[in-house]
Amino acid sequence: MRTLPLVFEAPKRGLPPRHLADLDGPARRAAVVELGEKPFRAEQLSRHWFAGHTPEQMTDLPLALRERLTAALLPPLLSPVRDVECDDGATRKTLWRGHDGTLVESVLMRYTDRTTVCVSSQAGCGMACPFCATGQAGLTRNLSTAEIVEQVVVANAAESAVGGRVSNVVFMGMGEPMANYNRVVAAVRRLIEPTPYGLGMSQRNIVVSTVGLVPAIKRLTEEGLQITLALSLHAPDDELRNTLVPVNTRWPVSEVLSAALAYTKTTGRRLSIEYALIRDVNDQPFRADLLAKRLKGKLVHVNLIPLNPTPGSEWDASPKPVEKEFVRRLRAAGIATTVRDTRGREIAGACGQLSAAEAAV
Ligand code: SAH
Repeated sequence: MRTLPLVFEAPKRGLPPRHLADLDGPARRAAVVELGEKPFRAEQLSRHWFAGHTPEQMTDLPLALRERLTAALLPPLLSPVRDVECDDGATRKTLWRGHDGTLVESVLMRYTDRTTVCVSSQAGCGMACPFCATGQAGLTRNLSTAEIVEQVVVANAAESAVGGRVSNVVFMGMGEPMANYNRVVAAVRRLIEPTPYGLGMSQRNIVVSTVGLVPAIKRLTEEGLQITLALSLHAPDDELRNTLVPVNTRWPVSEVLSAALAYTKTTGRRLSIEYALIRDVNDQPFRADLLAKRLKGKLVHVNLIPLNPTPGSEWDASPKPVEKEFVRRLRAAGIATTVRDTRGREIAGACGQLSAAEAAV
């Protein structure tokens, strides 16, 4: 097993140049004024960018000005390399290339009642969870705020073109969002900020998923946000969790649960517990009971994820009867429990499979 990085906030290396969406409203206006233009130009530019318009579509900006503002504030970020679809077009994975050649992925999932984009917050990941494809490759770099937001903006523009829109965003693609804290929180703010300065999404429809970096969870509790927190628990006991989620050796189950539940208490948002069911590893009845005991009476929801086996791994998903028994025990103890569907499997777009190296083959 790789040793854990001591510093969770990776250096700025590789980040793209400053982009409009990295800045909040006042900073955008200041940037435009610095270029010698009127502040309202920031609003026009924002409206276009969040709608997914190309510079050619920004016709209310005089051509010379458009070129100047674009050059200064809209540097190219992610270019789509490839789209792959499955589930009859209801799931679409996009592979993106960053300005420095970095590859990341996002996944769009259309359901009857919502359209969700699963975004990446880092290229690669430094958390080294052994069952996760991204975890095997290590961290390449953080994504910028604008790079994170762009994954949603492009998907939303494509949905708008066919009369829909992206309603939900989950930070469950590549990377550990809480290890890229400032940029992820800024991205969340861009998603919820009303137009023209943001996408105007509802906070309740945004989920940030984490391995459980306790100081970052505590910081998030102070942000005044109401987004949903998902905690990747995967085991109710330290002995096993130390091996499945190596960061547990730093912040054990009791500490991470108490930080996550404190977040829930402050925000009133139900905590989502992610638990990938791995055959003969964490799916025993006694672990279901222990999990139930630790969560009893708390504002939580358990999301069981059938393990999506990564290439070369000896691990597999639990057999259905074992999964059913695990669910039964949790529910019998009064814990709200669901089993996540396995969207995107055929295109390696399911949980933990967002591996650019694989997709690039
Ligand atoms: N780093 C964050 C978000 C990324 S992954 C986190 O760990 O929470 C989103 C979820 O997919 C996490 O719960 C993660 O543990 C889970 N996951 C990763 N690999 C998986 C796999 N092979 N099968 C099923 N779930 C997996």
